[in-house]
Amino acid sequence: MTTGNINVSVENIFPLIKKFLYSDHEIFLRELISNATDATLKLKHLTSIGESKVEYGDPIIEVKIDKEGKKLHIIDQGIGMSAEEVQKYINEVAFSGAEEFLEKYKDSKDTGIIGHFGLGFYSAFMVASKVDIITKSHTDAPAVKWSCDGSPKFTLEETDKAERGTEIVLHIADDSTEFLEESRIRELLVKYNKFMPVPIKFGTRTETLPKPEDAKEEDPAPTREVDNIINNTQPAWTKQPADLKEEDYKNFYRELYPMQFEEPLFHIHLNVDYPFNLTGVLFFPKLNNEINLQKDKIQLYQNQVFVTDNVEGIVPEFLTMLRGVIDSPDIPLNVSRSYLQADGNVKKISNYITRKVADKLSSLFKENREDFEKKWNDIKIVIEYGMLSEEKFFEKADKFALYPTVDDNFYTFEELQEKIKDQQTDKDGKLVVLYTNNKEEQHSYIEEAKAKGYEVLLLDSPIVAHLIQKLETGKENISFARVDSEPIDNLIKQDEEKISKLSDEEKDSLKEIVTATVPKEKYTVQLKAMDSDAAPFVITEPEFMRRMKEMSATGGGGMFGMSNMPEMYNLVINTNNELVSQILQTKTKAKQERLIKQSLDLARLSKGLLKGEELTSFVKRSFDMIK
Ligand code: ADP
Repeated sequence: MTTGNINVSVENIFPLIKKFLYSDHEIFLRELISNATDATLKLKHLTSIGESKVEYGDPIIEVKIDKEGKKLHIIDQGIGMSAEEVQKYINEVAFSGAEEFLEKYKDSKDTGIIGHFGLGFYSAFMVASKVDIITKSHTDAPAVKWSCDGSPKFTLEETDKAERGTEIVLHIADDSTEFLEESRIRELLVKYNKFMPVPIKFGTRTETLPKPEDAKEEDPAPTREVDNIINNTQPAWTKQPADLKEEDYKNFYRELYPMQFEEPLFHIHLNVDYPFNLTGVLFFPKLNNEINLQKDKIQLYQNQVFVTDNVEGIVPEFLTMLRGVIDSPDIPLNVSRSYLQADGNVKKISNYITRKVADKLSSLFKENREDFEKKWNDIKIVIEYGMLSEEKFFEKADKFALYPTVDDNFYTFEELQEKIKDQQTDKDGKLVVLYTNNKEEQHSYIEEAKAKGYEVLLLDSPIVAHLIQKLETGKENISFARVDSEPIDNLIKQDEEKISKLSDEEKDSLKEIVTATVPKEKYTVQLKAMDSDAAPFVITEPEFMRRMKEMSATGGGGMFGMSNMPEMYNLVINTNNELVSQILQTKTKAKQERLIKQSLDLARLSKGLLKGEELTSFVKRSFDMIK
């Protein structure tokens, strides 16, 4: 038997290891299974090139709990180690690796990233008071057993082990007995190892076999115990797109998110090997308009080992609403977040993903426009957000982003321009795009616009104010106006001024009376000569202020503090409407006031502003009037 000190320079690495990754103790299992996987794949390689004489067979990795003995076993049938190799790889290489890791991250506050990669074999000491390695090399070297109880001392001796491979035995420490619970280990295996490339056995399960031909009705079907393999060694993203059908992607989605019952809208298969390696499958889920905090996020893997579902920095922000898997050996995991964002490779990966997503959307649009239109409402938030946040994406998406009208016609921006240019170009040559964000609330305004032959878009995502702002600044001679931002005649300004039925003096006195009657802190009174059958009183909400307010409320634009400003409304009075003339001619002050108040309330009702007590008294008053 050999005994020795692992390294005298750091006497107390084990307590450090233990303390250090307090919240991430669970990663030990991922580390040990990764080592077992590497050892298995190395053997596969050696046998394939004829450098190992053993039969590769169908090796598995087994995880076994010995509750009574308070031990956890991780057993592989991989390459194994000779005594010299244990000496070299465990006592020297692995140890110095762990030591280096600790040195680097001892003072780091960035514990989030630390868990993303482990300190390898020695992470076993986070949960074990003693670790044994029983290993037999694939060569003729005798089997050996290495033991270490967490002090720098270790023992190494020959032992009996017939089969090649390595068994790691963790003597679970008293404060880590959770790792002797079957449910806890299963949870970890599912979290980290669900798609690893070598089958992992955890216990057995009962399989029901078909009944033999001559079995009687009441005979129970025969059963047998089989290995319970917890992983799918060939998940969809490791295959070629050509080998997969639509159904395979859907099955994979269910496998990834067993708690998701809604089907994804479509998938994007990522596959690059230059200038970096990356594979993956992204899914567009149904998103609707709610930006909800989602649990089912994109998962990042490194060679089929789960790393994290916090992909911030690697996936462009607007795509974090998607689901799926990204697998890349090239994403540096052992660095801090700020570094990650500055890393050239990571930037390239992020750009690549953006491009792929844009290309996929573009081809979906070209290949099946009808279907794309159907899906639009479920995907628009991602696309609109992408157009706002990534210039490259904007350039591509500008050709397939859709602008639906209130009558469910879907136009690209170019088509829209063509469609409305004759009707909706104002006197200064500017194209005015009309929109609503709520068909019900702005119904009367929409109807008026439609009666004029205008197209009204339905733009109702929460970030639409930002998008409109961007389109206005990015394109020439375009402006957007919500249907209730101006009285109908003013929405698209034309040269001819309508002649007012009222004289200047009449107008002055009308303005005076109305201003005295309506609450002036809320409404700015404006007189305007419009068609005689256009509404007598109409409330408008100027586009610019409202939009700034909305942008400020959804963040990242507008002006600071704007979202707390009160709403600003104009009360526009149509001087050509018969009712307005009547108001002016009414002799009794009380009656005049009543007419104005009632007209104001009708205008408010039409804009959805009449609520609560005011609505109640309006209804009562109206009943009294028709009595
Ligand atoms: P890393 O895996 O990053 O190299 P580790 O500390 O996890 O670092 O392991 C150090 C080395 O010990 C490995 O590179 C490998 O040579 C050897 N090793 C660890 N586990 C096994 C195993 N199950 N079978 C064979 N060799 C192993």
